[in-house]
Amino acid sequence: MIKIGVLALQGAVREHVRSLQAEDTEVIIVKKAEQLDELDGLVFPGGESTTMRRLINQYGFFEPLKAFGESGKPIFGTCAGLILMADEIVGQDAAHLGLMNMRVQRNAFGRQRESFETTLEVQGVAEDLRSVFIRAPLIEEVGEHVEVLSTYNGEIVAARQGHYLTCSFHPELTDDFRLHQFFATMVREAKQVTN
Ligand code: GLN
Repeated sequence: MIKIGVLALQGAVREHVRSLQAEDTEVIIVKKAEQLDELDGLVFPGGESTTMRRLINQYGFFEPLKAFGESGKPIFGTCAGLILMADEIVGQDAAHLGLMNMRVQRNAFGRQRESFETTLEVQGVAEDLRSVFIRAPLIEEVGEHVEVLSTYNGEIVAARQGHYLTCSFHPELTDDFRLHQFFATMVREAKQVTN
């Protein structure tokens, strides 16, 4: 059995819970930092990164989230969650959690009404993953140890750095659960290594 939490301060929480459902997976809605101790992996949902950061500070999540990542437990950040993980954000003086070696640009695909759904090839995951882009960020540049998993029109939209997985889009808004399954496999593997 593995336990995967979804950070539930703001954003598309329920959809991730649904996409993570599996026989050997307990999905936990995380509202308090103490809950992190019992988890094997964590998802940062999409939403609004500035609001999420404010709530992370307000509820005492900042240091515990950094420590969770640095302990080697897998984290999967989608959309606003990707922005939380980056160590550089274009036009902003400071990043948020700075877990991944990448520079990101917010709202890179236009406004809410320019949202779209498409099919992407994601390395090691699927040749035709359904994905929804809503005011999505893009990864402008990746640094050392970051593997590009997917591009859309030449722009990087999914990447992995060891136990960190991230994507610009919302895989939780479709019935295609393959990226969540890929993350669950990362969590299972990390748990085997640490046990
Ligand atoms: N544009 C949002 C931000 O900057 C992210 C959008 C999303 O998560 N759908 O936080």
